[in-house]
Amino acid sequence: MGIFAPDELLAYLPRAYRDWRTPQAIGTLEPGEAVIVATIVRVRERPGRFPLVSADLDDGTGTISAKWFGRRHLFGKLAAGERVFIAGRVARGPRGLDINVTSHRVLRDGEQYSGEVVPIYGATKELTSRQIRTTIAKNLAALIDRRVDALPEAVVRRHGFPPFAQAWHDVHAPADPAAVEAGRRRIVFEEFFGIALAAALKRARREAAGGATPIAPPPELWATFCAQLPFAPTAAQERAIADIWADMTRSAPMNRLLQGDVGSGKTLVAAAAIVLAHTGGLQSALMAPTEILAAQHAAKLAPLLLPFGITVEAVFGSLGARDRRAANDRIRSGAAGLAVGTHALLTESVEFVRLGLVIIDEQHRFGVAQRARLRGKALAPHTLYMTATPIPRTLAQTRYADLDLSIIDELPPGRTPIETYVLRASRKPHAYEFVRKNVELGRQAYIVAPAIDASEPALTGALHEAERIRRDVLPQLRVDVLHGKLAAREKEAVMQRFNRGETDVLVATTVVEVGVDVPNASVMVILDAQRYGLAQLHQLRGRVGRGVERSFCILIAPDDAGAIERLEILAASTDGFAIAEEDLRLRREGEFAGTAQAGAGTGTIGNIVADFELYMQAKAEADRIVAHDPELVAPEHRLLPVLVDGIAAARALLVTS
Ligand code: ADP
Ligand code: MG
Repeated sequence: MGIFAPDELLAYLPRAYRDWRTPQAIGTLEPGEAVIVATIVRVRERPGRFPLVSADLDDGTGTISAKWFGRRHLFGKLAAGERVFIAGRVARGPRGLDINVTSHRVLRDGEQYSGEVVPIYGATKELTSRQIRTTIAKNLAALIDRRVDALPEAVVRRHGFPPFAQAWHDVHAPADPAAVEAGRRRIVFEEFFGIALAAALKRARREAAGGATPIAPPPELWATFCAQLPFAPTAAQERAIADIWADMTRSAPMNRLLQGDVGSGKTLVAAAAIVLAHTGGLQSALMAPTEILAAQHAAKLAPLLLPFGITVEAVFGSLGARDRRAANDRIRSGAAGLAVGTHALLTESVEFVRLGLVIIDEQHRFGVAQRARLRGKALAPHTLYMTATPIPRTLAQTRYADLDLSIIDELPPGRTPIETYVLRASRKPHAYEFVRKNVELGRQAYIVAPAIDASEPALTGALHEAERIRRDVLPQLRVDVLHGKLAAREKEAVMQRFNRGETDVLVATTVVEVGVDVPNASVMVILDAQRYGLAQLHQLRGRVGRGVERSFCILIAPDDAGAIERLEILAASTDGFAIAEEDLRLRREGEFAGTAQAGAGTGTIGNIVADFELYMQAKAEADRIVAHDPELVAPEHRLLPVLVDGIAAARALLVTS
């Protein structure tokens, strides 16, 4: 189950608890889970292929028939007159109530039943909750003993946490359910604290190391910058630029994540950073995951930078050797103020004279080593990460805890929000008719399918659907197909045709998610929309609504109330962050509802959405400690590195750049 070490076993918390403390009176039982203590009146045993032991029970308030299915080993073990404890599921049988026994124990003569709270662990077919429970119960003291109690006493006192050993004991073997919550709070706090501590340490190290070139913006720079723009920056763009410029005036290198939905205007913010770097005599580099994206960046940035005399150099893998050499020369000589490119930027032949600002677009699509390599082309460059993937604020706190965050939470004015509708699959013809009408009005449309070929009957394949549309549904329209298996040149050609308006309808897989920008496309139909996460659907629909026209997104899903309800969240909101947060919440709930517990082995125990308050408390403590004792040399902080080391998410923060 991904559990390899004693510590991981201890950290494998129960996903639920059964309260077996108070037996119910048989006379009051209703169908459902129940616990009873009663006397056996009669036992029957049925041998054969499907052995069954049943016992009539009486507790003075009523009678019930207990049934043990398939447990041959119980033959001869139960006898009339014995008192038993039984937990199981009550159902109405043909002759009154039955209880299907999941757990039982014969009580000793005169034993007073005292009951217990039983932990239920996420289990598999091969490894049952009961096996995990007994293993942990048998070894609990030793497991706790091995673990280092590193949380400073002052922190424990301030938050009123139970003592270390008690907390761990109470989550696995609680005397009552209230003890579980107190113990869990301490454990989750400790984990969050470790993550926050790692982030604070990393930040402190970066601050202490310094080494970046500080550039103070000249007083008139903002006015000059704005004067060159064809529009006024939004308030959100202005805030982000202010954050970035403030970072760049310091010798501690900037380490900032700029988040903004598709179309929110990140390019302008990046341009402002590049302009400031340039006034400080520094070059910039911008790396994007694909050539399409890099080319778009170059095309959008060039006019914004031109008034400042900054020339843009593109570095692509597809460049011929001669062009490549020329580009490298201009970067090496400093003639190029900005180099834009793909991974090709990482090659050794690309050398800067004075690289001071590194911008990485969609940073999650690059590996740690790649990001480090680009930054390695300068001593301590200011670094700006950009992403259009909205990361819920809560999640960003842990995953990107060492980055400063700027969020563009406002679209430029004059944009008409996308109207989103959810349609049941039976109404797909209406959606296609809507596409036809819009094409008649001069618009273009995307139809997104979840697969290239229909490998499962329940899935719509792009190829087949395109053929069907072309032949039967919209024969009068020009239909094209785009999918991941096309060669790069073919993809490019399909995109160019759509770009130039030579195709009306583009049937595509999710490859349209990135790097497609056709303002005349105003309708998107997403087939089998239930297959996607909400955040991904939001990204997809960002392909429309890029022009001034009203634009529409139609989500097609089977007639399933749950799926429809989830998709309605998208119809109701255009805020990528709110959607991502909701998506995260739904997914976490889904994971907990299933049998496998989320977080075994590598994940976190705490749920950053549900436990966010606790995270913020842990972060405040971690920040305070690092501010006063950045080397963790005080005696009460001596064990903190052990705590950090024991948490995968915290370790990861310290090694990644
Ligand atoms: P992103 O990269 O965040 O998806 P872009 O930077 O490409 O968004 O901007 C999207 C579009 O909005 C571009 O056409 C850009 O010119 C325009 N734009 C950006 N900022 C503004 C603004 N403040 N006012 C009006 N239009 C803007
Ligand atoms: Mg962009």
